[in-house]
Amino acid sequence: MLFGALEAGGTKMVMAIGDENGRILEQRSIPTTTPEETMPQIIEYFKERLTEDGIKALGVGAFGPVDVVKGSPTYGHILNTPKLAWKGYDLAGTLEKALGIPVGLDTDVNGSCLGEMTYGCAKGLDTVVYITIGTGIGAGIAVNGKLLHGMLHPEAGHILIAKNSHDPGRSVCPYHDSCFEGLASGPSIEARWGKKAVELVDNKVVWELESDYIAKGLVNMILTLSPQKIILGGGVMHQEQLFPMIRSKVTTLLNDYYTTKELMDMENYIVPASLKDDQGIMGAVRLAQLAWEEA
Ligand code: ADP
Ligand code: ZN
Repeated sequence: MLFGALEAGGTKMVMAIGDENGRILEQRSIPTTTPEETMPQIIEYFKERLTEDGIKALGVGAFGPVDVVKGSPTYGHILNTPKLAWKGYDLAGTLEKALGIPVGLDTDVNGSCLGEMTYGCAKGLDTVVYITIGTGIGAGIAVNGKLLHGMLHPEAGHILIAKNSHDPGRSVCPYHDSCFEGLASGPSIEARWGKKAVELVDNKVVWELESDYIAKGLVNMILTLSPQKIILGGGVMHQEQLFPMIRSKVTTLLNDYYTTKELMDMENYIVPASLKDDQGIMGAVRLAQLAWEEA
């Protein structure tokens, strides 16, 4: 059975067709400009695949904040985004109306978390944190087998963490002068050191500071959510040297406050995304399947 998948990002829209095993059969991406320009292309792509043995439902992992609370009057709408053209846009409703198939929606990071839990390194676990460290920082969270929404959805990229006294830079977050995203996202590295993160690979100080901040962010989530695994994705985490540094700093910060079998096995506790940057789109396939089963 085939499902449509859309990873709706602030810079690009990734559209794909996948099957019930999460296998991606085809994929295309287009730039995210305005709804007037972008949406007709997305609708056309999926409409062409609504044939008899074509897609049965669509799954959407969306940039946020986005209303993912079923029953809310603005369910499926993009909320207060800096991408002003999309503010208040009824993303899920527009797609459902145009395509006439069930649409499953969640945040992009919850989608990635679901992708890893269904097809990747978090299979069989029920409480998992997926964090992307890229242009922004975002966390997808599953608790007791369910993606966490609560009042809206977590925005754990903006948890407040203390600024390191040796940090020559400052927070790039327009809302907070000492938050995780403001201090540790790709753009914050670039603003602090005046170069792209990939051009700083050999500069030890850069990754010491970066791993300090990531470790602090992770410790707060470990203590709050008690996840069985933490998966780190996004462009910045392509710097694999960060992983051993983060694991060791998390261990130091926790300071044996408590021990679990997971924390004793750091190599398998804090891990890179396992689906080759397809965790988001594969998660969207799963969202489609769940929407279809529910309908
Ligand atoms: P987005 O968050 O926009 O979906 P990415 O996850 O690729 O996209 O994140 C982009 C950010 O990650 C940029 O700030 C970029 O400098 C940084 N980045 C991308 N690739 C790498 C890399 N290999 N090493 C370090 N930083 C990277
Ligand atoms: Zn912030």
